[in-house]
Amino acid sequence: MTFKDLHIIEPILRAVEEEGYTHPTPIQEQSIPILLKGKDLLGCAQTGTGKTASFAIPILQHIYLDKQQNTGARTIKALIITPTRELAIQIADSFTSYGKHTGIKNTVIFGGVKQGQQTNALRAGVDVLVATPGRLLDLIQQGFITLKHIEYFVLDEADHMLDMGFIHDIKKVIAQLPQRRQSLFFSATMPKSIVELSGKILGNPEKVTIKPQQATAEKVDQALYYVTKPSKTKLLIHLIEEKQAKSTLVFSRTKHGADKIVKILIKAGIKAAAIHGNKAQNARQRALNAFKDGDLAVLVATDIAARGIDVDDLSLVINFDLPNVAETYVHRIGRTGRAKASGIALSFCDAVEKADLKEIEKLIKQKVPVISDHPFAHEGVEQAPMEKKAPQQQRSRHSNSQKNRGGGSGNSNSGGNKRNWKQRR
Ligand code: AMP
Repeated sequence: MTFKDLHIIEPILRAVEEEGYTHPTPIQEQSIPILLKGKDLLGCAQTGTGKTASFAIPILQHIYLDKQQNTGARTIKALIITPTRELAIQIADSFTSYGKHTGIKNTVIFGGVKQGQQTNALRAGVDVLVATPGRLLDLIQQGFITLKHIEYFVLDEADHMLDMGFIHDIKKVIAQLPQRRQSLFFSATMPKSIVELSGKILGNPEKVTIKPQQATAEKVDQALYYVTKPSKTKLLIHLIEEKQAKSTLVFSRTKHGADKIVKILIKAGIKAAAIHGNKAQNARQRALNAFKDGDLAVLVATDIAARGIDVDDLSLVINFDLPNVAETYVHRIGRTGRAKASGIALSFCDAVEKADLKEIEKLIKQKVPVISDHPFAHEGVEQAPMEKKAPQQQRSRHSNSQKNRGGGSGNSNSGGNKRNWKQRR
């Protein structure tokens, strides 16, 4: 399935393509048609599934099409509430990205900062408002915001909202919304309290559940190779030659790294290509098509570029570098072992990556089996105490991953936040 199959209008389609998305994620495939029909939605899904685009795209499309008919003053037509300022900023960034050819304006409001910039943006007029509950109520009370024109309402991360004690604020917001509206409710978990709350917001919703990715991890045959950084490419060549897989997807943490790996593979006589954000769209597409058609056995990708890869019988995934966000590991290995196929995921771990490995094993609740009899095992990464090997890198990588888990700077719509968000995956 493509975004075009979902009947998305051209200006949004173009923006989505410019983001580098080639295929909708499962939640997008399921939710977009429901939302374009104007129905309410109860979504059981986590951040990281592509949830934001699944609601931002239909909302933008509705507003855009309405605007062709009614050219009145700008009023707030869509309200998205979310528990934290980082999430609010990310969501607003998404609306900006997907809506960049639509002329639809959004702004983001959250507490803990002065309100001047936020009220100025509101005064200038917006169509979409992304907010945390406290600041939203505050600005409503001060008369900067009215909710009477809201047609689309999204409650995001409802379970976190309740955990953070926002229930009363949410009820106050709901009381001010017009009766006639389309409502969306997202939560990663659905305990009784959440189901009750959803009942107060939604009218006869359609339900979409995206299963946690952990389920995938169990289906995939995983193995771990301790190897020094300089020997990684030699081990890669050795494994590609040994496994003789029909299609192998190699993950590199950086674009530069991906290019380097491809160069070395080609030199070793292995046909390979890289896909990442620095490659032109058509070069990426060409490599991807060759990979899908079986003309290219090895594709080297960064995480962002790999999200659109949808190859049914992908037999082997190799994590040349371990990701520094544990969830990404599950996304990566979930690329193999789809449908009936059983997949294999091999991961390299150098001394610096041991902390990342620990996080991954915590998340998937299992130890990745170690293969110790490989030609480059003698270099002894497994035994080496990591602090002695590379204390500086160890620390900085780790603090990076902490930051990526949600410590944005809090500046509205700044480039820095955008980067944080992208890195988070
Ligand atoms: P979310 O779950 O909304 O936080 O999205 C997770 C990440 O996936 C974000 O970095 C998005 O930019 C990215 N993303 C969303 N949809 C797609 C898609 N169809 N293809 C590739 N990346 C996507």
